[in-house]
Amino acid sequence: MSGRVMIVDPVSTNRIVLKVKLLAARYGVIPCASFAEALERLDDEKPALILVEASQLDAGLADFCAELRLGRRHVDIPILGLGHFADSHARLAALAAGADDILPKPFGDALLLAMIRSLLRSRDEAREARLSDETRTALGFSDSSAAFDHAGSVAIVSDDELGGKKFGQLLGGFRSGQAKAMTPTEALELRGKAVPDLFVLDARSAMARNSAEAVYQLIADLRSRPETRNAAQLVVLPTGSSTMAAMALDLGVSATASADAAPEEMLHRSRALLARKARQDRVRDTVKSGLEAAMTDPLTGLNNRRYAMSHLAGLAERAVETGRNLAVMVLDIDHFKSINDRHGHAVGDQVLIGVANILRRNLRAIDLVARVGGEEFLIAMPDTSAEAARAAAERLRQKIASADFGSCEGGALNVTLSVGIALGMAGQAVGGRSGTEDLILNADAALYRSKAAGRNTVTLGQTAA
Ligand code: GH3
Ligand code: MG
Ligand code: MG
Repeated sequence: MSGRVMIVDPVSTNRIVLKVKLLAARYGVIPCASFAEALERLDDEKPALILVEASQLDAGLADFCAELRLGRRHVDIPILGLGHFADSHARLAALAAGADDILPKPFGDALLLAMIRSLLRSRDEAREARLSDETRTALGFSDSSAAFDHAGSVAIVSDDELGGKKFGQLLGGFRSGQAKAMTPTEALELRGKAVPDLFVLDARSAMARNSAEAVYQLIADLRSRPETRNAAQLVVLPTGSSTMAAMALDLGVSATASADAAPEEMLHRSRALLARKARQDRVRDTVKSGLEAAMTDPLTGLNNRRYAMSHLAGLAERAVETGRNLAVMVLDIDHFKSINDRHGHAVGDQVLIGVANILRRNLRAIDLVARVGGEEFLIAMPDTSAEAARAAAERLRQKIASADFGSCEGGALNVTLSVGIALGMAGQAVGGRSGTEDLILNADAALYRSKAAGRNTVTLGQTAA
């Protein structure tokens, strides 16, 4: 079963007709004859979505929606208003009362089901957004909902005069500079900051030319390009094109509007979609910063141990595949404890940051540099011979030894480090978990010899035969 849908309609035949359609599409059904009954049964029944007869019950709809959104439990349940809406103002009234979308009667099954699917998708996104907001707040990040007062940018995409004129009115509803008009070709050429948060796509003239294909193509193109894939899409269709609306929703547009929509309805829909896009952006940002946090050492910004081990395994596999050498170095700051003891932990931290910066600046982009312990670093250099690895280690050792990490009291602060190198030779089994572990063990043994030899030294370990 794909979820349970609550039907709120006082007319029993309407409930039965809807029930048959939904059961056929494998949804569970919870029929209710009134808003009161619906509210009473919400907690027990936990519907995924609510279909309401929104034109006859309009007096109670706003209260119902408000009541539903009051408690945290039900805030995400999408509400789809069905009804004989006389015009755009009647539709706007249902939307303004709190319906997430509306579907004018009579409608075909395909469009009803496409709208349900689309609303359930956006419910899942909203849930994720709320969860990530709560996590951010729990982690002490600022309340992000307060942080976004940014209205969002809109591109109105139309390829004819009619559209331009009609959308001129819509443009007027947005803040100045928030929305601009463009052709489909221009929309597909947008890059970077020019990409809007919302595309309003005018499908009417393409439809007048009988080319629904062109509209589908534009929707799919915008969805498939990395630059524009995250932008919301609102498609304006000729009144009554329900097959096309269903198709557009399944292609991933956020919502459809009919050509007779008044500017106020368009504006309401646009604002709702912009708010939703802003929520999705926050989720993406949180996921991204979470991923970064999971692989980065917060003090130095280098990769952390966890990332290093997994990346090293990948580099080793590649070395085996390509038959090239892989050099692994372990670097440990000498007598670091005494830096802390003499200058304090904060100065010790500054030294770690300074050493990390020197390592990062003096290696290639393909080299792995990680902080794998308190004052211990790991470097992996693909496609590197023993001589080249030794030269690189020697260069790093000298750079560190000659740098001044300046303590708070003024005066020079110097540190040295010791290095152990292990080489995974071409053709040798360095792939797999034990292969990389052996490499690190060999590098550690070489490091130990550098320490024993008086520190500030580079030692190239024995490579297994
Ligand atoms: P050796 O030359 O033998 O490596 O001597 P060492 O003093 O560098 O080695 P030891 O392992 O005895 O001490 C490492 C010190 O590093 C101990 C610990 O307090 C310090 N340390 C570990 N992590 C951090 C950190 O994040 N910040 C600071 N300031 N110190 C740290
Ligand atoms: Mg150490
Ligand atoms: Mg040390």
